[in-house]
Amino acid sequence: MAKQKQTFQCYQCKETFDLLIDLEEQPVLMGYCPYCKADWEVDFTPENSTVIIHKNTTQKTAGIKQLPAIIVTEPRKTEK
Ligand SMILES: [Zn+2]
Repeated sequence: MAKQKQTFQCYQCKETFDLLIDLEEQPVLMGYCPYCKADWEVDFTPENSTVIIHKNTTQKTAGIKQLPAIIVTEPRKTEK
């Protein structure tokens, strides 16, 4: 599956930034805000599907889901 460009909004400073994501390779994304350096994560796995919405019902729902234009990140809770 090709990578897709996705806009995220920092939970802390509310700045937005774009990342290339590949949800099949990486269902849980983690990173640092380029503005305030906050650690964030976004979980795209089906059990945490609150960020996944189905806007276009004519598309196949298997595989990559339709995502909101801007995804608000969450404070990182996964310990490395
Ligand atoms: Zn930030």
